[in-house]
Amino acid sequence: FVIPDFAALKAEVAASYEGLKGVDAGHVADYIPQLGRVDPEKLGVALCTTDGQRYALGDADVMFCVQSICKPINYCLTLEEHGTEIVHRHVGREPSGRGFNELTLNGDGLPHNPMINSGAIMCCSLVRPAWEMADRFDHVAETWRRLAGGGAVGFNNAVYLSERRTADRNFALGYFMREHRSFPDNTDLTETLEFYFQCCSIEVDARSLSIVAASLANGGVNPLTGDRVFSADTVRKCLSLMSSCGMYDYSGEFAFTIGLPAKSGVSGGLMIVVPGVMGICVWSPRLDAVGNSVRGVAFCKDLVNRFNFHVYDSF
Ligand code: GLU
Repeated sequence: FVIPDFAALKAEVAASYEGLKGVDAGHVADYIPQLGRVDPEKLGVALCTTDGQRYALGDADVMFCVQSICKPINYCLTLEEHGTEIVHRHVGREPSGRGFNELTLNGDGLPHNPMINSGAIMCCSLVRPAWEMADRFDHVAETWRRLAGGGAVGFNNAVYLSERRTADRNFALGYFMREHRSFPDNTDLTETLEFYFQCCSIEVDARSLSIVAASLANGGVNPLTGDRVFSADTVRKCLSLMSSCGMYDYSGEFAFTIGLPAKSGVSGGLMIVVPGVMGICVWSPRLDAVGNSVRGVAFCKDLVNRFNFHVYDSF
């Protein structure tokens, strides 16, 4: 077993989970009503090791939309489809040092990286661009289902409709990139943005997201089904960018204190990858000032106090 004493790990995670219940700082995202109405007390924690041992606590079966957690998955899809060289003609791989939805491009007129909105919109333009929209969405949804290996994966149409209605900034980012000719030729901007909102509206629960994270921890192979969803090379690149850019404006601080690739979303979801060991999901909707789940970050801090999971811990 990757974790020889799984009972001991469960006991530590359960203790950490209990501690989180008292954490009530932060506020749920309310830029769309569907997120504003979510019960702020919800808390789900789940983990899945790279050899398939699993554990879940609390609201681990309640569905939530992935929001920005779609970004690393779409980035992987673009790498698999086009290779690094072509993908990075359209999107950089440096942290931006700016807000996740700021109207800014790098010195080459490209979005800074795939983990911020502009870069994620760019990646959407690169996922099966020649296909019909319905087939493009099916391709993304099917990838999520394979990564989750039978775990819950759905789609929240109300979130999608609200995202599309409240999308001035994302449209602005799209036009800004089109003005700079950052997109591949023949990109349909409206379709690309709608595709991005659809990807953000995919739903998972903490259990299924922990399996998605475990598939990334396992080099692209789902530990439950043995299905190779992404190549090891794709996953290496994705985890590198999650490490440097996955936690909004807390990414550098997160890399320093936690030292694990992770991606958060405004729904309060947090996907954490312990490479070679396990995937973890914490879902708790209250967000801090930069947009990360307060309890999610607190859990990570506690985790690296209890275990030497920081990638630069020496054994
Ligand atoms: N749909 C959100 C947006 O594009 C996603 C934000 C997020 O999770 O960071 O504004």
